[in-house]
Amino acid sequence: DPGRFTQVDATTWRVDPWGAMRVPAIIYADENLIRDMDNKVYDQAVNVATLPGIVQACYAMPDAHWGYGFPIGGVAAFDPDRGGVVSAGGVGFDISCGVRTMLTGLAVADVLSVQKSLADSLYHQIPAGLGSRGAITLDALEMDAMLIGGARWAVERGWGEARDLERIEEEGCMAGAQPDWVSERAKERQRREMGTLGSGNHYFEIQAVAAIYDLAVADVFGLVQDEVVVTIHCGSRGLGHQIGTEYLREMLVAAKEAGIELPDRELACAPINSEVGRRYLGAMRAAINCALANREILGHFARRIFAHFFPNCDLRLLFDVSHNTCKVEPHIVDGRRRELFVHRKGATRAFGPGHESLPAALRMVGQPVLIGGSMGTGSYVLVGEATSEAKAFSSACHGAGRALSRHAALKQWSGRQTVDDLEKEGILIRSPSMRGVAEEAPGAYKDIGAVVAAAEHAGLARRVARLRPLICLKG
Ligand code: 5GP
Ligand code: MN
Ligand code: MN
Repeated sequence: DPGRFTQVDATTWRVDPWGAMRVPAIIYADENLIRDMDNKVYDQAVNVATLPGIVQACYAMPDAHWGYGFPIGGVAAFDPDRGGVVSAGGVGFDISCGVRTMLTGLAVADVLSVQKSLADSLYHQIPAGLGSRGAITLDALEMDAMLIGGARWAVERGWGEARDLERIEEEGCMAGAQPDWVSERAKERQRREMGTLGSGNHYFEIQAVAAIYDLAVADVFGLVQDEVVVTIHCGSRGLGHQIGTEYLREMLVAAKEAGIELPDRELACAPINSEVGRRYLGAMRAAINCALANREILGHFARRIFAHFFPNCDLRLLFDVSHNTCKVEPHIVDGRRRELFVHRKGATRAFGPGHESLPAALRMVGQPVLIGGSMGTGSYVLVGEATSEAKAFSSACHGAGRALSRHAALKQWSGRQTVDDLEKEGILIRSPSMRGVAEEAPGAYKDIGAVVAAAEHAGLARRVARLRPLICLKG
């Protein structure tokens, strides 16, 4: 309901602090998106704004919808020197869930000539679905090496290429990971899950570059009209989920001990400078490495499968970026540089041009911001904007965002029918779960075009290219 906000401009809506709020809540969206937005986003953004040590504002992106405690599409930064907290629900259960896009250099026509066999090959060779298991089994030593090394570990083991690393956040390896603070139960769940896609919302998609909005940046990114890219969306599998679940329980106790008033139990958190806070951060960083390793391995599988169909094809990584994290980053607040713990939950890091952490080849233009739409409608590649630093600590939306709950989607669509309808549009869907396909039907998501237009208007990131799905393997 737009009436609950003060409208600042066409795509900025503010809730001034009331009650226990320490900072305003700011939502970026156009009027239609705000009108249709889940009311819970307002409540949850207001709740997050009450947490100790929160800096500047609590933000929600145009794709925001209800999440556990924090909204999905939420960004909140905390200052450790002012009692700031870290929250398991503010990171999300699928720690470091994220997206990578790889360039194939192939023309759409090349892929269409083998579309069906390529789809079947993906379905048979990429383990997908609930509890799916892979061919890789890790013993205790290898588990710890993976949790410390991330994608770098995968490359060392031959499941990836060294040149990929500079195209991955943190150069593929998150520092500060503490495998000792990851439970045996979490490690056990991950023992046979490396190189698996997982279920539901996760996907392995072959896409065509359908439109280019910024030729110069597309050129730097290597995106060419009517060429084919591969996009992989998945996270830290059972390990991340187990860590989230366990620390959530610990954080309820920790918050109480620290005297933090929680407006909602789901906001369970611990001071950054506390024993539980430090332990969670060490475990979460290990889970980030698990996700980075997993996407690197899946990228390796993509190369293997493509090499079978196109022997001369060379898959190059455009970028790999997470959208469920808490990262320590320097940001300018009130003219002063401060080290903040930035939670992005269902929000993409979106560094603008010149950012020191970007690889040399991309630094001039800014970070690729990889955004899913749905298996039927399309996806986008955006580029980080300098303005995003002041708008939302250099963050942008991460997808279209759900318009309907899974439950509501299941009532409205049949998985089989969705697959048949999309096949008529030239999009091949493969999935072990027809129920999953129904829950993920394109109509269950918001209008991706409207979401990215709002993100662009708000100065969060700028459109570079639109991607159209050709084949989607759904978890
Ligand atoms: P999440 O990380 O919140 O589960 O999902 C991220 C975004 O991915 C969703 O908001 C949605 O817009 C998008 N998405 C979900 N399923 C698919 C799919 O099969 N293909 C593509 N391209 N995007 C999807
Ligand atoms: Mn995920
Ligand atoms: Mn995700």
